[in-house]
Amino acid sequence: MVGDTTVAYQAEYIWIDGTEPTREVRSKTRILGDDKTPGIWGFDGSSTGQATGDNSDVVLNPVFQCPDPLRGGDNILVLCETLLTDDLSPHPTNTRAAAVAAFEKYGDQVPMFGLEQEYTLLNPYNGWPAGFPANGFPAPQGPYYCGVGYIKIHGRKLIEEHTQACIDAGLAISGTNAEVMPGQWEFQIGPVDTVTVGDHMWMARYLLFRLAENHAVEVSIEAKPMKGDWNGAGMHTNFSTKAMREGYDAIIAACESLGAEGKVAEHLAGYGTGIEERLTGSHETQRYDQFSYGVSDRGASIRIPWQVAKDQKGYIEDRRPNANADPYVLATLMTNTVCAALAD
Ligand code: ADP
Ligand code: MN
Ligand code: MN
Ligand code: MN
Repeated sequence: MVGDTTVAYQAEYIWIDGTEPTREVRSKTRILGDDKTPGIWGFDGSSTGQATGDNSDVVLNPVFQCPDPLRGGDNILVLCETLLTDDLSPHPTNTRAAAVAAFEKYGDQVPMFGLEQEYTLLNPYNGWPAGFPANGFPAPQGPYYCGVGYIKIHGRKLIEEHTQACIDAGLAISGTNAEVMPGQWEFQIGPVDTVTVGDHMWMARYLLFRLAENHAVEVSIEAKPMKGDWNGAGMHTNFSTKAMREGYDAIIAACESLGAEGKVAEHLAGYGTGIEERLTGSHETQRYDQFSYGVSDRGASIRIPWQVAKDQKGYIEDRRPNANADPYVLATLMTNTVCAALAD
């Protein structure tokens, strides 16, 4: 009708691509009228490692949406899973579907996750971490972890913006800190369930990469960006079920289940690329070919926090996952392994 105005808003469709060995996040913008809700859409999978050119369409199916804290107003972010066009079944690169299945199977145990995403800010011109001089190295590790001050800290403005953006988007961000290597940072998502932790982590990663465009730094989730005496970047996985939050027997049973025959290799295969480079037995890690658990032990595969030992209930921390792991994959593995053991 003449005179009608439709107020348009922007929906940023976000999905996870098929890049090997580490998946990357992609997005594109859809303009919608104020009478429209974001429905399924599609993209050219031949440009993302998800299809061949002669059969290139891949379906985007919205699974989680939140306000877009960067554009503001009525604009939204829409996280999507990828589906095949022929029968709308999950695309082979869709790792969320398995997380949904694990949560449907074991949701009655009320699994909860807190993921610690470590990452490194890189100078885009030479690939060197922020805070590393162009032709050399900064002073050895020691003062940087949770540090304060101009020489020690690099990128705080971005971290502050990212944290506020996550809060404004309604994501379950639970904290941030500067890490052991200069230019390295962490944020945590949780505690939330098996599926939500992946949804919120991928959304928080998107916001971080997107905001970094304004700061002339590249965000890397590589597991060991600097070889030698510099900490790698992990994604410590804090996990509990209702039984673990209520008693210590379940805490021990969970640790034992992760060390069971075949489980160590199965989990490491889903814990990200370059696991052997990071899990060396130094720099607060256990070696990748050893399995151990212990109270307060940051050199163990699994740490039982001291407060948990004291309270005789709580959660465990799997310290093995790499920063570049897919949170859907880790949450699926953890839920299936531990919940199957606790169900016995
Ligand atoms: P660290 O001391 O290892 O650096 P952090 O404080 O960075 O620990 O991260 C701890 C994470 O554990 C947080 O994301 C928090 O939400 C999560 N967490 C706390 N309690 C539980 C619980 N019962 N189950 C799962 N995760 C939990
Ligand atoms: Mn932490
Ligand atoms: Mn950390
Ligand atoms: Mn930790």
